[in-house]
Amino acid sequence: MPTDPTRKRITMMSNIDDATLMRVAQALGEEDAIKLIEILKGSEEITDDEIANKTSIRLNSVRKILYKLYDHSLVSLRRTRDPKTGWFIFHWRLQPDQLEGFILTQKRQVLEKLNLRLEYEKNHDFYYCYTPGCKRIPFEEAVELVFKCPTCGKPLMHYANEKILNALTKKVETLRKELGE
Ligand SMILES: [Zn+2]
Repeated sequence: MPTDPTRKRITMMSNIDDATLMRVAQALGEEDAIKLIEILKGSEEITDDEIANKTSIRLNSVRKILYKLYDHSLVSLRRTRDPKTGWFIFHWRLQPDQLEGFILTQKRQVLEKLNLRLEYEKNHDFYYCYTPGCKRIPFEEAVELVFKCPTCGKPLMHYANEKILNALTKKVETLRKELGE
């Protein structure tokens, strides 16, 4: 039996859970992206005017977010011309199969950053004045500062970073598992 593309599309749509939507919205830096994707999920194709009406998000913001989604291939765009006004009408459609790839890319970027941070924590010995708000200082810098905090002037003492190392290692492991690495 041939696969029905509509059925496949519907299955993928229902797979988009809230966590996924949150990730996308965070990655784009647009809280309203969640509402937009929800609306796009519920329609085969929709214009930016219709989205603005349904969500009460300003048309300008709707367009801005749609173009961000478009940049990441998360939506597709079809353009027609209004026979009366001659203006272009933009019809948007969610590309649910692209969401997974987008999120994987985001996760890989986070993993890369975490790995760098982990290496930094592993390769440095830290010194700290134990004053809240002051920064930890790597050994090499602490030597130059004659073990005196440049912010508060208190003496710098050795700081054990095991807790940070453990937390980072756990996060890295979780992400690696999620990425199947
Ligand atoms: Zn200090």
